[in-house]
Amino acid sequence: MRYHIDTIPVWDAVKLDGECFLCALRRKTELGEVDRHLGASVMEPEVRIQVNKKGFCSNHQQMLYAMDNRLGHALMLESHVSEIRERLGKACKQIRSASRNASGASLMDKLSGKAPSPAKRMEDAAAALEELTCTCIICDAIDDNMGRYLHTFFHLYQNDTEFRKKFEGCKGMCIPHAAELLRHAAGELPGKALPEFSNLICSLEEEAFDRMQEDVSWFCRKFDYRNYDEPWYNSRDAVERTVNKLRGWCVGTEPNPKE
Ligand SMILES: [Zn+2]
Ligand SMILES: [Zn+2]
Repeated sequence: MRYHIDTIPVWDAVKLDGECFLCALRRKTELGEVDRHLGASVMEPEVRIQVNKKGFCSNHQQMLYAMDNRLGHALMLESHVSEIRERLGKACKQIRSASRNASGASLMDKLSGKAPSPAKRMEDAAAALEELTCTCIICDAIDDNMGRYLHTFFHLYQNDTEFRKKFEGCKGMCIPHAAELLRHAAGELPGKALPEFSNLICSLEEEAFDRMQEDVSWFCRKFDYRNYDEPWYNSRDAVERTVNKLRGWCVGTEPNPKE
């Protein structure tokens, strides 16, 4: 069932012919999730419970903040903070106890070597504090969706000749997503299909980086006054595309066209 629902977005992302179809899918999912969390779903009890528990990472807080819906943001924070306050109490108890034990471990414990070192106790206590803010409901939703999209991608790659042809002619992927595809390939493809697929990904990446290298070089040379009248060729957005190819989409124009 899922397969049919996910086929269209995966196909659409490859058809965009951008620098990384997985970045396009990821960004689309991310924007949808951010929007959803400041919309009606905020009031759904199940979403609420998850938000209270997981919260949002700094990157997604930034995106929520930029949506300029202070009240929606505050409503989410209100119940999340109250849950965090409760857990903070427990963490503080552990921190206080760890710091006391660190200074006053019993002689017997010290002699038996059973007691964790003061540094280890404090490290665990600090980790308990850190754990309060190491989850993000949007990051988790993106991961879930991307997992399904990857699965769909391999299904299409194996069963839809037109899709495969289109993918073989694509501009490659960003490096993190190329690695992600390869990581999943062994589990998704029959062993005999693995060399061909791996070879395809390597060739796409090598070609893409030849192109990036050329574009970014020309971009630099265009600043030489002797090249003032020369055309830009494909290098006007070379900085953005190179950054995005190296690290995954993070700068420049959005990978998806405006709807
Ligand atoms: Zn990517
Ligand atoms: Zn996040």
